[in-house]
Amino acid sequence: MMKKVIIVGAGPAGLFAALELMDKADVLVIEKGKNIDERSNEIQGVGGAGGISDGKLNLHPKIGGDLTEFVSEGKAYELIDRVDEIFVKHGAPEEEEHPSAEELLRRAAASGIEFLPIKQRHIGSDKLPALINSIKRELEKGGVKFLLQTIVEDVLVSDEGVEGVLIEKEKIRSDYVILAPGRAGSPWLSSVMKKHGIPLKHMPIDVGVRVEVPSMIYEDVIEINWDPKFRMRVPTHDDFVRTFCTSPYGFVVRDSYGDAVGVNGHSMRHKRSNNTNFAFLVRIDLTEPVEDTTAYGYSIAQLATTIGGGNPLLQRLGDLRRGRRSTWDRIERSYVAPTLRDVTPGDISMALPYRIVMDIIEGLNMLDHVIPGVASDSTLLYAPEIKFSAMRIITKDGFETPIKGLYTVGDGAGVSRGMMCAAATGLIAAEHLGATL
Ligand SMILES: Cc1cc2nc3c(=O)[nH]c(=O)nc-3n(C[C@H](O)[C@H](O)[C@H](O)COP(=O)(O)OP(=O)(O)OC[C@H]3O[C@@H](n4cnc5c(N)ncnc54)[C@H](O)[C@@H]3O)c2cc1C
Repeated sequence: MMKKVIIVGAGPAGLFAALELMDKADVLVIEKGKNIDERSNEIQGVGGAGGISDGKLNLHPKIGGDLTEFVSEGKAYELIDRVDEIFVKHGAPEEEEHPSAEELLRRAAASGIEFLPIKQRHIGSDKLPALINSIKRELEKGGVKFLLQTIVEDVLVSDEGVEGVLIEKEKIRSDYVILAPGRAGSPWLSSVMKKHGIPLKHMPIDVGVRVEVPSMIYEDVIEINWDPKFRMRVPTHDDFVRTFCTSPYGFVVRDSYGDAVGVNGHSMRHKRSNNTNFAFLVRIDLTEPVEDTTAYGYSIAQLATTIGGGNPLLQRLGDLRRGRRSTWDRIERSYVAPTLRDVTPGDISMALPYRIVMDIIEGLNMLDHVIPGVASDSTLLYAPEIKFSAMRIITKDGFETPIKGLYTVGDGAGVSRGMMCAAATGLIAAEHLGATL
């Protein structure tokens, strides 16, 4: 008889684990949300958090996580290729032709900046539901069962290892369990892990600003990569600073972190602005005696919310440099018209720690050698933008926890932060588990 595997969560990590195991085991996927075409704007359901995105696939093992932390470099690239092939088989578009990145690479290297010319595939929000449905159909054809709108509350454990899961006071038995509850499910996962004595650790977070510039200064760069990734070490503090989530012709939007405000950005298909925005973020890793990066991030967000009177802060880079606050009057003198006006013109150095402010100014000055104009006095900065990270579950090889047969993968386990890497971690666990069948 085939062994029974329960997978919790039908995001990329859970679905790809199921694809790998469907011929080898009796697989049941339990998901608290609905089917993708019955979902409104929620981040739960078949397809997971990626199901409501516009599906930008970064075909690189060190973007959206770092697979080389868990497998060899060669294996990491091989996993990305496999995940990509599956996405293409189910409808992801072929890659577009881009101009050569050589000149940009040279310019970046000469300024002490790493530019990652990664291949990207853009599925598009209109195509994503069909793609997810196609994967689900293949799984069902392969015998995988889905139990939707069902919340897993706990895992069942004995001295021998995992024995199944608990749903609404009902026990479902299995030989193996893969937990893939995603970023939103990470507090639940952490509490289950703590309850069963499995160690966890805090991961670095990213804190910074959303930068907004006239789109024309970014045009040749986005022709090479729609979401170009620049990474650098800034001179004074030697901190790691990077660009993230570039939104060409896009809009800055409000975000929230619990009761604190923040910002984010996006591009729309049918509506374009004259600006391009991107997150400019400083990596924060804390060591003993304070390791709780999440608490630190929230306290920054709360301070920014206080000084912004409940709104995100907006400041011209020139005002930040000169140590004075921005006012609407000064903002109007900028060449860049803000796409988000529900903000308080103010002084970002009153909200973000000195070290982060220095890192941002120095990093933008460096980037200005690669993208002239990006560090002009007119450049607009919105704060805060914070990327929190799930706590990492400490596992053995193949993401198996110290409890035999229990695996944790994807964003919720703190081992990925994007669709490609999440899917790849699902494959790693499924391969490890598959080898024991
Ligand atoms: C708005 C948005 C846009 C994004 N855009 C992109 C993008 O363009 N490119 C990219 O690479 N990444 C993007 N991401 C990130 C990407 O979606 C995630 O990295 C990826 O989906 C993580 O996969 P996962 O399988 O680990 O978790 P998820 O996709 O979050 O899936 C986890 C699933 O588990 C279910 N679940 C949780 N707890 C339980 C429980 N107790 N019982 C049962 N089910 C449970 C949830 O309902 C959910 O469906 C975006 C994320 C968001 C929120």
